[in-house]
Amino acid sequence: MNEDTTINVDAAEVAKFDALASRWWDPGGDFRTLHEINPLRLDWIRARAGLDGLRVVDVGCGGGILAESMAGLGAHVTGIDMAEGPLAVARLHLAESGAEVDYRRMTAEQLAKDEPGRFDVVTCLEMLEHVPNPAAVINACATLVKPGGHVFFSTINRTPKSFLFAIVGAEYVLKMLPAGTHEYRKFIRPSELEEWARHAGLALADSTGMHYDPLSRGYSLGPGLDVNYLQSYRREAD
Ligand code: SAH
Repeated sequence: MNEDTTINVDAAEVAKFDALASRWWDPGGDFRTLHEINPLRLDWIRARAGLDGLRVVDVGCGGGILAESMAGLGAHVTGIDMAEGPLAVARLHLAESGAEVDYRRMTAEQLAKDEPGRFDVVTCLEMLEHVPNPAAVINACATLVKPGGHVFFSTINRTPKSFLFAIVGAEYVLKMLPAGTHEYRKFIRPSELEEWARHAGLALADSTGMHYDPLSRGYSLGPGLDVNYLQSYRREAD
C-alpha cells in the first residue's frame, strides 16, 4: 500500500513502467500484449461510444498505444499518466505517427478537479490493478465524463484461473509480460468494479472477456470474465 495517503499513486508501480518506457512501441517487446489487444479493444470502444469528433481522456495512458489509436479515429484525446518516461515516449511517438494527443503528467483525481464533466468518453484500461485505491480512480472517471457519456474500464479478475493464466502463464511460462508486472491481490472482481462504479453514478452497459489462445497465439473478445475483461458504463444523467 502506498504510504502517501494524499495522492493515489503507488510509486513502485509507476517506477516499473518508467523503467520499461523505451520499449513501449516495440511491437515484439515487453508491451507486445498491449499492441496485440489494441485493435480488439479499440473496436469495442468505438462500437459503443463512437470516437470521431469526441473529446476523450485516457487515464493511465502509458506510452499511448490506445490514446494514439483513438486519435487516429478522429477523437480529441488527452492522455494522463504518472510515469514521466512513458509520457516522454508517447510525445516522441506523435512525431513519428503524426497523431495529435495532449499528454499530461497527472492523476485522474487531479484532472477531475480541474475539468469535471468535460469529456464525452473516459477510458481507463489495464490501470486500476496498479493503484492503491481503484475506487477513487473510478470516482474521478465518473466526474470527468459528461452526464450520459461513456466510461470504459479493463482489468484482471481475481480468480484461481487468473492467477494461473495472468501471472504464472503470462509472466513465467509464456513470458508474454515481464515477471512482476501484476500482483494477484490487486486484481479486481467484476462485482467489485460494478459496485464502485455504481457508487460513482455509473451504470453498467456491457461487459466482455478478453481471451488468449496459446495455440493460435491470438486474442479474442467473448463471454467469460474470469481472467481479463472489459466493461463499459454510462454516467447517469444529472
Ligand atoms: N492504459 C495503457 C497502459 C497500461 S499500463 C494501455 O492499456 O495501453 C498501466 C499504466 O498506468 C502505466 O503507464 C502506469 O504508469 C500508469 N499508472 C499507474 N498508476 C497510476 C496513477 N495513479 N495515475 C496515473 N497513471 C498511473
